[in-house]
Formats: sequence, C-alpha cells, structure tokens
Amino acid sequence: MVDYDEVGPEKIVDVYHPKTGMRGFVVIDSNALGPAKGGIRMTPTVSVDEVARLARAMTWKNALADLPFGGGKSGIIGNDKQMSVDEKKDFVRAFGDAMKVVCPDLYVAAPDMNMAEEEMEIFSNAVGSKKACTGKPKEIGGIPHELGSTGFGVFHALKVACEHKNFELKDVSVAIEGFGNVGWFVAKYLSEVGAKIVAVSDSRGVICNKEGLNFEKLAETKKEKGTVTEYGDGEVLPSHEILKVEADIFVTAAIPDLIKENDVDNMKFKIIVEGSNIPMTSHVEELLYNRGVLVVPDFVANAGGVISSYVEYIGGSVDEMWKMVEEKVVKNTEHVLKTAEDKKCSPRECALEIAKKRVLDKCKICRV
Ligand code: NAD
Repeated sequence: MVDYDEVGPEKIVDVYHPKTGMRGFVVIDSNALGPAKGGIRMTPTVSVDEVARLARAMTWKNALADLPFGGGKSGIIGNDKQMSVDEKKDFVRAFGDAMKVVCPDLYVAAPDMNMAEEEMEIFSNAVGSKKACTGKPKEIGGIPHELGSTGFGVFHALKVACEHKNFELKDVSVAIEGFGNVGWFVAKYLSEVGAKIVAVSDSRGVICNKEGLNFEKLAETKKEKGTVTEYGDGEVLPSHEILKVEADIFVTAAIPDLIKENDVDNMKFKIIVEGSNIPMTSHVEELLYNRGVLVVPDFVANAGGVISSYVEYIGGSVDEMWKMVEEKVVKNTEHVLKTAEDKKCSPRECALEIAKKRVLDKCKICRV
C-alpha cells in the first residue's frame, strides 16, 4: 500500500508493453523542487510500494542536498539473469518510450540495481533527450560512477564531523565496512590525510590491524585476490565483528541494516558516518545518539552521487563536479550538525526537518 501525505506521491505511472511483456512504473513522489530525480531498478520483485518508499527517500536526499530536484524512482519487473542481452535492451527501450509522458520534464532517471551506463544510453535515446537520465557514458556527456563522487563526499562529511568533535584527522583511527565504490574511495582519501585505518571489511570478512593498514596494499590485495582478508598483516574476523573493533570513527559502506539494537552496547566508536543507505533503523540511531555517539545520517553523508548527477544534468565538467560535491556536502553536514547540537536533537531528526521544510515551503508557494 502506497502512503499518501502532504508531500506526495504526486504521480504514479504504470506501464505495460504488450509486444515485449515489459511492465514497469515510475513514482514521482514530489516535483515541488524540480523534476523528480531517482534511479531505475530492474528486479523480478520490484513493486510500486518499494519504489514509492525509495522515491520518498530521494525527495529528502535531494532537498537536503539543496538541489533543484524532487524525488522519484522507477522499476522494471524483470530478471536480467534469465534474459538475453537483447531482451533486456528491449525492456529498457520500451520503458524509455513509455516514460516520454513524464521524462525529462517531471522525471529524470539514473542507474539503480541492474542498470548501468549502457542502459542509460538506451533509455535516453528512447526518450529522445539527453536530459532524460544521468549516469550515461562519458562519450555522450556522462560523469563516470567510477570516479567515486560518493566516497569523496563521505570523506568530507567525516572531516566535518571530526571538526565538530575537535578531532584531528591525522590522529584518528577509522574502521570501514565495505571496500567497493564507496569504501575504497573513503579509505583512499583518509590515507592521504594520514588518518589511521585500523579495519576494513568486505563480504568475506574483516582485516584488522591496530598499527594501521596501508591503503595501496589493501587496494592491490582486493584487486588481485578479490578480498581484503588476504591482506596478510593483521587479524581476520567475520564481517559483522567490525562493529567491535576499537576505533574512533566507523564508516558504513556496504549493507543495509548492519547495526542492530543488540550491537549498540558492544560498539566503542565516537563517530559513525553512514556511507551506505539505511545501515540501521532510526531507533538504533537514537540509541547511539543517547550514548553520545555522533551519527552522520546516510542522506547527509552519501549525497555525493546525486550531486554528481546534478552536475551531469546541467552539462558541467568533472572539475565542477568535485567542487560542488565538496561544497554542498561540507555545507550541509556543518548545518545539520550545528543545528542538531543547538536544538538538542539527533542529526537525523534535524536533517529530516530541514529537508521537509524546504519541500513543504515550496508546496505552499506553488500549489493552489
Ligand atoms: P559496491 O557493490 O561497489 O561495494 C560493496 C562492498 O560491500 C563490496 O566491497 C562488498 O564486498 C562489501 N560487502 C558486501 N557484503 C558485506 C558484508 N556483509 N560486510 C562487509 N562488506 C560487505 O557498492 P557501493 O557502490 O560501494 O555501495 C555501498 C553502499 O553505499 C550501498 O548501501 C549503496 O546503496 C550505498 N550508496 C552508494 C552510492 C554510490 O554512488 N556508489 C551512493 C549512495 C549510497
């Protein structure tokens, strides 16, 4: 069941293409601040409800990042592991053609699960506009995901959190969950400023060394052996044990719902930066807040990706992208942490309030 409230969803378009059997939908949660921005996912189980929840999360993320985008998301029902390459292309093409009714004026797409650059090129061609989506190949104006804009933003959010707590980056110890697109870049930037990385995990486990891990060696090990646990010099633990590591700061950069209520008492981190989406429920976040842990929420810390999409959308360069990611993430994180401290509320509560206000204020002005 989709929940409707004072924000949205404003439009849900459900499409079916009889010739290919493609069924898909887009949920435009809000256009208050601009065209609804959010990715397309293709999974066998994707539903309007799931997409509506993700679209709402995009409304808050885009509003908090202060981008002229509303929130949206779309889904195509399909299992690309059981489709031929051409069948998948046909689905994406049919979906793009059907999306012309809202795209690009009211909805701008991006890659999400099982969608990549190639699919974005097909989608934008089917819609007939380069503005139809971001995440396109470089040759047609895209800004590559591999540049690591999200990890770069997460690093800057962490830097602001350290300043807020009067920690010197060169003196802090950090544990990082996940060593993919986000975790890898966070580790890279932290190593460049001399922070001590004491633990890094991936799906195979944690490599932990109190004396510090070398970023270049970690990257080489991951590339050559497929897992950081083959690093050699340190203790290897099961993945979940990263929560018990002694470190000042913890960066989440892998799975949702990593931290559960019963983990809270075992954790000693002073700062947690949510690079991944929903690494814990807001209830668990509240428990950590009550224990004095500073948690930088996901939609504040990991907005680098969507900011990079915005730069692509307006036809900006890679240099402009780095500049805007840093400026916006720093400004928003500072604003959220300072306001939360002044109001004596958790950073999430405060960030949501700021995002909601931006959207609802605009709704009041624009709507009759
Ligand atoms: P990725 O697929 O590149 O990397 C994921 C990493 O997590 C891999 O190293 C994998 O081995 C590891 N992993 C998987 N299961 C694990 C486990 N149980 N314990 C520890 N590590 C585990 O993904 P990514 O792009 O780095 O995204 C990571 C998270 O950040 C996701 O939650 C994603 O939604 C979120 N996120 C990513 C972006 C982005 O631009 N990449 C933007 C916003 C949010």
